[in-house]
Amino acid sequence: MATINKNYLRLQGSYLFSRIGEKVRNFQSENPDKKIIRLGIGDVTRPIAPAIISALHSAVDEMGQESTFKGYAPDLGYEFLRNAIAENDFKARGCDISPDEIFVSDGAKGDCSNIQEIFGADNKIAVCDPVYPVYVDSNVMAGRTGEYDDITEGYKDVIYMPCTRENGFAPDLPQEVPDLIYLCFPNNPTGAVITKDRLQEWVDYARKNGSIILYDAAYESFITEEGIPHSIYECEGAKECAIEFRSFSKTAGFTGLRLGFTVIPKDLTAGGERLWPLWARRHGTKYNGAPYIIQKAGEACYSQEGRAQIKEQVAYYLENARYIYDGLKGAGYEVYGGVNAPYIWLRTPGELTSWEFFDQLLEKVNVVGTPGSGFGPHGEHYFRLTAFGSRENTIEAIERIKNL
Ligand code: PLP
Repeated sequence: MATINKNYLRLQGSYLFSRIGEKVRNFQSENPDKKIIRLGIGDVTRPIAPAIISALHSAVDEMGQESTFKGYAPDLGYEFLRNAIAENDFKARGCDISPDEIFVSDGAKGDCSNIQEIFGADNKIAVCDPVYPVYVDSNVMAGRTGEYDDITEGYKDVIYMPCTRENGFAPDLPQEVPDLIYLCFPNNPTGAVITKDRLQEWVDYARKNGSIILYDAAYESFITEEGIPHSIYECEGAKECAIEFRSFSKTAGFTGLRLGFTVIPKDLTAGGERLWPLWARRHGTKYNGAPYIIQKAGEACYSQEGRAQIKEQVAYYLENARYIYDGLKGAGYEVYGGVNAPYIWLRTPGELTSWEFFDQLLEKVNVVGTPGSGFGPHGEHYFRLTAFGSRENTIEAIERIKNL
């Protein structure tokens, strides 16, 4: 008789966005004349840049000609893309990452949830609180987290690292040493970044303890300030302890096209075994590569024209972020993030819970955001707004919130 993977039963319902969706639907059906502005979900809204569209068109045409048709992509991804990534994202920043250390994929979500497969089932993970839920849920599915505890609102065998205004939303080094450490900067949901010095402390800690850092840099292109590392490999010794995930989703609007990559240094080991061959094997066995046309679109992001156009797009979202940040600050809110990230993390006014504030915003000014408590207990009394809306909607939403 077939049985199920019982670990799945330990997953907590993906209750955050479904509960938001339900509340918004109910409100809209009771108030059909109200115009709701959604600054909740982190999806982009700007169209794909012209240089990328042009590369897509040419690649589509190539697929229609016998002489240029492409079938399965190479396991690690096409060399033209891996070369462009190594050159522009790493060498240009002084990071010694070779094209062979880059695994092209269809996005960071799959990679950062699948990576745990190459580690032992007994490895203990550490995550930030609040956190992008994928890191925890993928480990729950693998049976690495223990039971869920309703009182602490967390899994018993996970090390949760509080990210609070006191530590600038960058976690302190944990007392109990984890085997796998998930870090994400610029951060979703807090919009926080980590300085190079503080990230270096994490690298030193991981090397000293034999831990591996799983570094999610999906929002790297939003960094505007000096002194903030774009890659963990800017830190000394990171090639000995870190894997990095990147995404084209927010950098170039690829949430619907799907493209990302993972960097695994060739000599990175865990328990004396090299990780690169394991991920290569995993990739080769379970994955057949991002489509050629999408990899060509990815390559176009590194052309002179493409770079300028996607930079403009990121600047557009960052300008939205500035409107939100300045507008809320001016209205007396305690506001974080938004400078090096498309997320604004605000403290709810008074002693309102995250969900109470959500209800107020929806019902009184018809604006939708995301309750911070949905990302973990330390997100309680916080609220996330995203800068991915249109300029017009963003400005209107902030004007409405000011009048709350
Ligand atoms: N990592 C973080 C922190 C994210 O917020 C997201 C998407 O919202 C992803 C990864 C997923 O990226 P992708 O679209 O490349 O799968």
